[in-house]
Amino acid sequence: MSKLATKTAPKREDRLHSCISYGGTLCGLKKRAGCGCLGDSDRSFSQGSICLMLPAIAMINSLPDNVNLLHGAIGCGVCSHSQNANARSGSLQHFGVQKDALWISTAMNEADVISGGEGKLKRAILEADRSYRPKTITVVASCVPGITGDDVEGIIAESQKLVQAKIISVHCEGFKTKIWSTAYDAVYHGLLETLLEDPPFPKNIIPDDAEAFNVEQLKKYTVNLCNVSSMGKVDEDELTRLLNGLGYQVNIFPVFAQPEQMWKIKYAALNISTCPTHDDYFLKLFKEQYGIPYILKHMPIGIENTNDWIRDVGRFFGKEDAAEKFIKTEVFRLNEALEPYRTFFKGKKVFISAGEFRALATANLLAELGFTIIGVRSFHHDEFASIEYEKLQKIAGNFSFNVANAQPFEEANLITRLKPDLFLGHWNGNSTSAKLGIPSHVIYNTGLSYIGYRGVFELARRLYRQLGNPVFAKKISAHNRLPYREKWYAEDPFKHIKSDDAKGGE
Ligand code: SF4
Repeated sequence: MSKLATKTAPKREDRLHSCISYGGTLCGLKKRAGCGCLGDSDRSFSQGSICLMLPAIAMINSLPDNVNLLHGAIGCGVCSHSQNANARSGSLQHFGVQKDALWISTAMNEADVISGGEGKLKRAILEADRSYRPKTITVVASCVPGITGDDVEGIIAESQKLVQAKIISVHCEGFKTKIWSTAYDAVYHGLLETLLEDPPFPKNIIPDDAEAFNVEQLKKYTVNLCNVSSMGKVDEDELTRLLNGLGYQVNIFPVFAQPEQMWKIKYAALNISTCPTHDDYFLKLFKEQYGIPYILKHMPIGIENTNDWIRDVGRFFGKEDAAEKFIKTEVFRLNEALEPYRTFFKGKKVFISAGEFRALATANLLAELGFTIIGVRSFHHDEFASIEYEKLQKIAGNFSFNVANAQPFEEANLITRLKPDLFLGHWNGNSTSAKLGIPSHVIYNTGLSYIGYRGVFELARRLYRQLGNPVFAKKISAHNRLPYREKWYAEDPFKHIKSDDAKGGE
């Protein structure tokens, strides 16, 4: 029987009143979110998007020695191919070997839809265990078994008795939610359910250091740092440096964490999040289960955000003075290094597009560097992000704001109107802006530094070099065009957002 209160993680539409449609300004969004008007908005026209399967697989593919078994139609797992570069480079950075992510599929077909896919799932689990001898098998349930009603949990319980690998269930039925970040909750739910037994594995693979494991020490001096699949080792190292600087040892979880060592996260003084969008479900549930307090507030991107992230840790341990001293030294050195860049960036207009916390925190960072923020798009909005809007408004004022689960047609219209000097976003948004002749920089790349004080400096350095020579984007735009008719650019970019509550600004 499940140790957790529910079999699957609830969807964010219900849990956090999340929304995916808003068009207007930052102040308008703040006002409407404040009176609870945003939740039900939708679009009369929507372009292709992704489902929660993609971010879930990004986390899962980082697990070493895991077989990712997709239970559903064959197409559901194909994003594994585009994510494999991250799996390989992450594996190299963390474990010293370049390893591909391993995924297989039950490839459900029409006959399985009629007669059910339970038999196929059981055979696939046994085959995965015997062929690959993995430490874990993640069974990721997609839309088809969700519709046909396969007893995925029952098959997992039955098969677990027959295999050595730990089987983790991850429910990613795409039709259940339009909020992709529900994926993080689904993966964490499966990990919490399966891997935290003490110790969870047979004796022959208990880690060597188990005897040296000093519970009291860990409970006093260890901070669990929740990482995300969009940050690389270089960012983990920076946050570890900051926490070590305050005198704490760090246990990083869950991306590229060894499954047989995950149980150790139960022995720590504190859990701290890197991205609240990513971790809120897990940290609250983990505290309920194991009593470990958490900090879920700031994303340490930008100077003030990093300062606040460190301050919160200092406050928790009663080391406020040490934290302030540490911050002062770091920020003094950073500001000196940033001086020449700030003069160059002053007044340059920037547009940012990403997941909610990353978009807002990166906008903060760019405002600190002297950029003028003229537009932000976030993929969704969660009610607990309100504090980020306050912070951003203080430093960057009011500007265009769009909440959209991709919807590149809205983005193309907005960029054409606002004419930024620089665009920071994911590859899809970057290709839109490049075709419009605007220099673009990727909002995250696991090989580059973005987080902490180092991230501020490294991003500034890269943008300085890029803006110094914007010819690349100009050449791209000279030979490419976007697929929209001219008349679309003259229309209201938010005309397809249905609810009046989800539009407008002041
Ligand atoms: S929406 Fe459903 S069928 Fe489509 S990729 Fe996602 S889980 Fe698979």
